[in-house]
Amino acid sequence: MSGTPSRVFHRLPNEPMPTAVAGDGCYIIDAEGKRYLDASGGAAVSCLGHSHPAVRKTMHEQIDKLAFAYSGFFTTEPLEELADYLIDNAPDGLERVFFVSGGSEALESAIKIARQYFVEIGQKQRTKLIARRQSYHGNTLGALSLGGNMARRELYQPLLSENAHHIAPCYAYRHQHHDETEEEYGLRAANELEAKIIELGPDTVAAFACEPVVGATAGVVPAVPGYLKRIREICDKYGVLLIFDEVMCGMGRTGYLYACEEDGVAPDLLCIAKGLGAGYQPIGAMLVSGRICKAIDEGSGAFMHGHTYMGHTLASATAMTVQKVIRDDNLLENVRLRGEQLRAALQERFGNHHHVGDIRGRGLFVGIELVADRATKQTFDPKLGLHNKIRLKAMEEGLMCYPGAGTVDGRNGVHILLAPPFIIDESHIAEIVEKLDRTLTSVLAEAKQVA
Ligand code: PMP
Repeated sequence: MSGTPSRVFHRLPNEPMPTAVAGDGCYIIDAEGKRYLDASGGAAVSCLGHSHPAVRKTMHEQIDKLAFAYSGFFTTEPLEELADYLIDNAPDGLERVFFVSGGSEALESAIKIARQYFVEIGQKQRTKLIARRQSYHGNTLGALSLGGNMARRELYQPLLSENAHHIAPCYAYRHQHHDETEEEYGLRAANELEAKIIELGPDTVAAFACEPVVGATAGVVPAVPGYLKRIREICDKYGVLLIFDEVMCGMGRTGYLYACEEDGVAPDLLCIAKGLGAGYQPIGAMLVSGRICKAIDEGSGAFMHGHTYMGHTLASATAMTVQKVIRDDNLLENVRLRGEQLRAALQERFGNHHHVGDIRGRGLFVGIELVADRATKQTFDPKLGLHNKIRLKAMEEGLMCYPGAGTVDGRNGVHILLAPPFIIDESHIAEIVEKLDRTLTSVLAEAKQVA
């Protein structure tokens, strides 16, 4: 670990951090030659692992031809091919793609296009947005206003939009009552949206946004069956646009190209990023329904939005190859198979662990919620800073996992998010479980001494 003070402002100046120098499949290698199994794909990004030969080949070839042609002047083959691929495989009704450089930009675009849509169709009074507590939609001001990650919002609250409102998340482990089925709970949770729309005034609400499977804020929480269908019905009833944020859960992570396919629900706007370029290039996108495109085409004619790097040539070519590898190597099948194996292996090892409250997920998107007491679901004291300790200890063990402290009913809950590359095999699963076990044993023993 190099401990020299750093001038990079997005890291703590004196926090020891390994220097990454190379990638090799599911591993990152540091300057001292130590190998780290990337069990979280960084922040659920690197879905093809590192230094993938086909992606490297495309990148070299594209740079040799043309790295960047500004999309205000030119279209390019990689850009058109990627748009076709995303739309050909998209949920019903999504007809065009707006490219950006990452997740926050995709959500900003969705907020702005929702607003423009209602202006175009003469419903200017629709300015309000609804999202859920325990959600994360990005760190730019619009996306941060929309999201419900209280820790990330707190400091910036005075700058955040007052147009954003929040309802409860769909979080069965914490909120499902003992005497209700999953479906009953899903309906109850979804109906909060209807109540909120009525409270705000139905003709003032523009859009509702949610992650079909919540990622970083709560440690992989899939919607229960029927929840998203009911959400769609409510949005339709009140003319509210539905935005799915699949920045983390989309592009194959759950075993489906788009996570909402599994729920059989199509949104009006669908935001993707992370797995789209698999970390080889920064790229995101917003898929837009025909209804919205038509209103804009027939109205002012253009979406009043854009960024310099949208439709970046190298990023488009790279993302296209990432998606071709996923398709041609049948990786979605591997995601479903290995996801089940990973969850089963975690269940076997940690299923009865006193401090493991819940193991959940879809495909290779897996969350482990840690609790001080399994029986009462009591959360750990936030002062213990367990999530940071887990990250550091896991790195020491040669494992990248993505621990976080979400908010559970106003208290801090600790979770570990796993999102390994789609190419993992059984040996990687065994390595994840072993290294995680050593990490948890050490960190939790230390926490016990402090407590
Ligand atoms: N939405 C979700 C669901 C995310 O997980 C993230 C990133 N963690 C974002 C939006 C923001 O993406 P970015 O960091 O690329 O701006």
